[in-house]
Amino acid sequence: DPTPVVVTVTGAAGQIGYALLFRIASGAMLGPDTPVRLRLLEVPQAVQAAEGTAMELDDCAFPLLAGIDVLDDARAAFDGTNVALLVGARPRTAGMERGDLLSANGGIFKPQGEAINAGAADDIKVLVVGNPANTNAYIAAAHAPDVPKDRFTAMTRLDHNRALAQLAARTGSHVDDIRHLTIWGNHSATQYPDLTHATVRGTAATELVDPEWVERTFIPTVAKRGAAIIEARGASSAASAANAAIDHVHTWVTGTRADDWTSAGVVSDGSYGVPEGLVSSFPVTSTGGAWAIVPGLEVDEASRARIDASVAELVEEREAVRALGLV
Ligand code: NDP
Repeated sequence: DPTPVVVTVTGAAGQIGYALLFRIASGAMLGPDTPVRLRLLEVPQAVQAAEGTAMELDDCAFPLLAGIDVLDDARAAFDGTNVALLVGARPRTAGMERGDLLSANGGIFKPQGEAINAGAADDIKVLVVGNPANTNAYIAAAHAPDVPKDRFTAMTRLDHNRALAQLAARTGSHVDDIRHLTIWGNHSATQYPDLTHATVRGTAATELVDPEWVERTFIPTVAKRGAAIIEARGASSAASAANAAIDHVHTWVTGTRADDWTSAGVVSDGSYGVPEGLVSSFPVTSTGGAWAIVPGLEVDEASRARIDASVAELVEEREAVRALGLV
């Protein structure tokens, strides 16, 4: 039997964790031939709840689940980890300043970066879901100097999937008919869902939808979908976020399809004018377990302004975490 892949999930007792763990254990993330060993990391007060989830995982009798540990210590949780899903974060609460939010998350992602640096497996792949995801990934990467920077990623796949769904609905097509859609920048309301390169069954998306719909409906709907879900459901999106995390890691491990790309927050190499080192969303392909930013795309003037605005927000967040001494 193959050696199980060690998957560590933080914030395991949260709502995304609950929607995520059962699918990982069923093989949806790493495939039907890969056994997994789950490590659930939680804060001490949520360990008991995570143990309850572990009992339910046992009760599913998943053939691929090789074992579960519930832990409140980051060093133990990331020892030998192959795939880390950093979901637990300090959410913004009413009246909270950005500095307080970043400080609280620095207190989570710095020790987790250090623990990954100290003990994770050589092939460690990290996906940060907890917000502010891009900057949390930046903080974790900064504290893992021995891990190649390209192993730290932030999730914008949910934004990408939301954009696919909106464009498919508008054009009466199937999500699978769409290629070359991109989310640029920060996973926040400043993100830029870009369909200037997208095709629907081979036809340019810009020929199928009018510019006013793109500006007034498509971009804001994708960027503000999280708030719309909270409004409708009375709780934040969880199953769709978990699904996007599964998609992100699945694509990272198995690759993008031919003649297409996806979106992910990766460490910038300076491409498209995004300052080197920032964790920003780009159009990316995955081959052989490594992401590559799609090179050489033409960026029109309107796109340039939107990318710059979102990247400016990432620069501000970086300056803030530097000023707070978090990196
Ligand atoms: P959720 O499971 O709903 O969300 C977890 C994180 O994912 C939040 O930061 C949330 O950000 C973020 N997120 C990213 N994308 C989305 C999306 N599309 N929709 C919704 N959320 C998204 O939070 P819960 O409060 O239910 O659970 C969090 C758990 O994390 C708790 O059990 C807590 O104990 C744990 N935790 C664990 C830590 C650790 O392991 N060291 C540290 C801190 C917390 P946003 O709030 O902005 O929506």
